[in-house]
Amino acid sequence: MRYAILSDIHGNLEALGAVLADAAGRTDGVLCLGDVVGYGADPTACVDLVADRAEKVVGGNHEWAVTGRLALGWFNRWARAAAEWTSDRLDSDHQAWLSALPLSSEVADATLVHASPARPDEWDYLLVAEDGWDAFSAFATRVCFVGHSHRPAAWSLGSSGPGWDPRPATITLEAGRRYIVNVGSVGQPRDGDPRASYAVWDVDAGQVAIRRVAYDIATARRKIQAAGLPRVLGDRLGAGT
Ligand code: ZN
Repeated sequence: MRYAILSDIHGNLEALGAVLADAAGRTDGVLCLGDVVGYGADPTACVDLVADRAEKVVGGNHEWAVTGRLALGWFNRWARAAAEWTSDRLDSDHQAWLSALPLSSEVADATLVHASPARPDEWDYLLVAEDGWDAFSAFATRVCFVGHSHRPAAWSLGSSGPGWDPRPATITLEAGRRYIVNVGSVGQPRDGDPRASYAVWDVDAGQVAIRRVAYDIATARRKIQAAGLPRVLGDRLGAGT
């Protein structure tokens, strides 16, 4: 079994379409780590596609925000404006689907969670090496897949010591080691590479590959501007920040 693991799509239909096309020939299923909406101009189309394709979806802080479970005071003004814009455009069916997403889920020997397996509803960021170590005691499976920071990264722990890779490409899951893998962001990468990011997890081969996919950034940006969303949300797509 090979899964495409997508996170932080953020209403970017152009990026989501490109990633699903890239994943089609090399995976058998789709998993989603949340933040399907927020920032981008196509929240309902992204929800429809993810609901149709993904076997499992967990909720992110933007799902919590647009369904009234997270106070918008937690967000900066751009995120807040986007959450209000998004919430206004979701009908009751889409609201209900987003409201029903769990905070975490398990597939094979992996845990799926948006932010951190430790207190997933506090939306902590795992950014640097130290952020990861405490989180290992908070999940029971061998691997935990996360998103939220919009930056791919990999932590591991085993008898030969800890490991951290801030720019992972292919991660071979070694016997006796446990892993936390951030799959990066489909719709708003922030690691300086504007291409969409997602992971291919080959369960039987014990391998996780981070893939980067070029997409039509100009169209996604134009739609954000035409929608009246904050300009910066379109501009940052081109810089990958
Ligand atoms: Zn996000």
